Amino acid sequence: MNDILPEHTPVWQYLEATIKRVVGAYGYSEIRMPIVEQTDLFKRSIGEVTDIVEKEMYTFDDRNGESLTLRPEGTACCVRAGEEHGLLYNQTQRLWYMGPMFRYEKPQKGRYRQFHQVGVEAFGMASADVDAELILLTAELWRQLGMNDAVTLQLNSLGSNEARARYRDALVTYLREHFDALDEDSQRRLDSNPLRVLDSKNEATRVILEQAPVLTDYLDEESARDFAQLREILDAAGIKYEVNPYLVRGLDYYCKTVFEWVTDALGAQGTVCAGGRYDGLVKQLGGKPTPAVGFAMGLERLILLLEAMELVPVSARQTFDVYLAAEHKGIQTAVMLMAEELRRTVPGLRVRTHCAGLKNIATKARQTGAPAIILLKQLDGGELQGSLWCNDETEYDLVPEQLKARLLVLFGA
Ligand code: ATP
Ligand code: MG
Repeated sequence: MNDILPEHTPVWQYLEATIKRVVGAYGYSEIRMPIVEQTDLFKRSIGEVTDIVEKEMYTFDDRNGESLTLRPEGTACCVRAGEEHGLLYNQTQRLWYMGPMFRYEKPQKGRYRQFHQVGVEAFGMASADVDAELILLTAELWRQLGMNDAVTLQLNSLGSNEARARYRDALVTYLREHFDALDEDSQRRLDSNPLRVLDSKNEATRVILEQAPVLTDYLDEESARDFAQLREILDAAGIKYEVNPYLVRGLDYYCKTVFEWVTDALGAQGTVCAGGRYDGLVKQLGGKPTPAVGFAMGLERLILLLEAMELVPVSARQTFDVYLAAEHKGIQTAVMLMAEELRRTVPGLRVRTHCAGLKNIATKARQTGAPAIILLKQLDGGELQGSLWCNDETEYDLVPEQLKARLLVLFGA
């Protein structure tokens, strides 16, 4: 679990602000859920035999003996909240959320025990145009972040639950014939969660999988038609993708569309965004049958990518505009009041004051990296004047009105 230090928070704020702008542009509303939920919620939604529920959850009993879990993902929480407050009944919802998630994993680059996701979920819409909308939204985000060339889209359809069950049987029959050649994990999953075998990174298992039945051949008519519609919209919008029949996703609740955005710029932890349709989940959690589709992206991985590609604008790293200091002793009150006045009268201006000794003040002010520096002095008659350093230029002896006017031009929002 990481501290995010002041040197890095501007990058986070830049990413978060960009995401908020993009989800806003698609008409999605923010929902905020608690970080702790009843353990049962995740068991019932994610599935008992998934990695998350089997070995990654932070679960504890509260003082009442009730089993609670730090949320490992947001979709189940979002469905729980939507049901509890009647947001899903006979209506559509377009929701997003952002926050920490917790999984007991082996920490490594791009994989942490507390990490952050932005999730986007659309409820009450069964057709593939909304699946396409979610993918267009993510593509627009990559464009605005300048990383569209660094990520690629993988797409698959898992079909209806019935179609998936038929495929599952065929896959298990095939894999049983090659049981001894499979890796241990895959052998274990064959009983509990056979589709996950398709995810295996094991070389020997991958060789076996090359001849395995392909999910695409088992698709039901409706799923095939929806998948075609999704592809038609993506094609028309110029979004490139690769259909990957091995893409199944790690959670139980997906059906029909699944997708992942992956990058090869981050090593092993290459998936920056993943999602799909989960038409069965709302009912499974006790609601009326409600179609739904959504995705989550991992902010740490996006931050790593932004930094690796040097995509964060310099201005986004700046946390203040002006460093304001006294040029000589005895006027600290005037400095504090001047700072107050500048903040109030120049909209958006960010002023940091110098609240320490004045030795080598010009050098110290420059070392802050401030875009602008003002050194304030008081004349014998009591009037204030300031020298302004900005963009390699210096203007001396500006009276307060002149200072304000200059700052308004330089930094005014
Ligand atoms: P992975 O295959 O990398 O373990 P996942 O399938 O478990 O991912 P999801 O549950 O779909 O991931 O979560 C969506 C996104 O959240 C992932 O694509 C990734 O960007 C991010 N993510 C998941 N787990 C972690 C983690 N432990 N640390 C950082 N980011 C994570
Ligand atoms: Mg995982």
